[in-house]
Amino acid sequence: MPCGKETHEHIDPVCKMKVEHTDDAVHSEYEGEVYLFCCQTCKDEFDKDPTKYLE
Ligand SMILES: [Zn+2]
Ligand SMILES: [Zn+2]
Repeated sequence: MPCGKETHEHIDPVCKMKVEHTDDAVHSEYEGEVYLFCCQTCKDEFDKDPTKYLE
């Protein structure tokens, strides 16, 4: 698990969907936090401008 926790859900910060955290989940790390995405497209959007999706 990229964030070291047991199976659980994350919220995709781009589209706000729930994403199950699995070993092959699409994820990105930003300032020490792990973010999961429903698809590569959301990850690409996040990586372009992470602060846009973080409050
Ligand atoms: Zn996790
Ligand atoms: Zn998404």
